[in-house]
Amino acid sequence: MRSVELLRIRLPLAQPFRTASGTTTVKDALLVRVVTLDAEGWGECTAQANASYMPETIDSARLALRDELVPRLFAGSSLDPVRGHHAAKAALTGAVLDAQLRAEGRSLATYLRSSATQVDAGVAVGMREDLHELLAQITGYVADGYRSVKLKIAPGHDVDVVARVRAEIGTSVTLQVDANGSYTLDNDQLEELDAFELACIEQPLAPDALLEHARLATRLRTPIGLDETITSARVAQDAIDLAACRVVSIKSGLVGGLDEARRALEACRAAGVAARAGGMLETGVGRAALVALASLPGFTVPGDVSASNRYFAEDVTEPFELRAGRIAVPTGPGLGVTPRPDVLARCTIARERLDPGR
Ligand code: MG
Repeated sequence: MRSVELLRIRLPLAQPFRTASGTTTVKDALLVRVVTLDAEGWGECTAQANASYMPETIDSARLALRDELVPRLFAGSSLDPVRGHHAAKAALTGAVLDAQLRAEGRSLATYLRSSATQVDAGVAVGMREDLHELLAQITGYVADGYRSVKLKIAPGHDVDVVARVRAEIGTSVTLQVDANGSYTLDNDQLEELDAFELACIEQPLAPDALLEHARLATRLRTPIGLDETITSARVAQDAIDLAACRVVSIKSGLVGGLDEARRALEACRAAGVAARAGGMLETGVGRAALVALASLPGFTVPGDVSASNRYFAEDVTEPFELRAGRIAVPTGPGLGVTPRPDVLARCTIARERLDPGR
């Protein structure tokens, strides 16, 4: 390993994105670039500017990379003794893997043992004050070709909104909702959502409420999905064993990397439990890894795999495009996409280079 560079970039979002955990108007991301003797590789840290979704932030990930993870990489030591910091670990191991695969001329999908050429797209839609604007936004996505919509909900922005959206798009479009942990067992709106043929109610309760989700599951017809809760393959197995969910949302940034994500998927497949590939408003770097992961068999509920233009007017890599409701799996070496130097030059707001023996 010759060097590692941490780049904080900022891209304007095509539209503000509001969830139960907050509103995002610009996408800040931390990109990791590793340079080896043979190639360079890229990884994206999916932590956000603040800790409203996951405990890590871009700044905490940057420190974990600089002070804990990259020194271990330079020393040839395992990253396993470092507890937590899953998004930072996923970004670094992803970048190292990308460099290795680029040097070998092998695609990430091939490494993951996927043979799919496309994945079903899905679009996550934030909350909006104006219901007409929300409906117009959703019908626009359906007109674009999205066959699966995941709507953000929170107490007070749920049953009526979901009823209107379902009436607007009909039953031929898969509809899921995501509460980002904003309900408690006392809320009875969740039972009312059973009326709308939802494919999944994602993370209704707090991330650490595993037993409460199991209790809630006995009251709902709609499958419960867990997302923020799923921080390792072991937790995924616990959730399955406790019948706390029927859909497991898998994110490499939450579980600590693609290999652990694959182990979580394996737990789902072995138990016959549905999985979905979760997204984090990734730039093209993270999106390429997400699309390759989502192309594995077992992701039977459409995930958050959208085209680049759903989020960004201009992405850092060549854009992912929607074709007949699907996204093509990159076939080039490694991630199959590369950040464009001209875009990076415009959107990088801070960079830090780390060298061995520093
Ligand atoms: Mg979610």
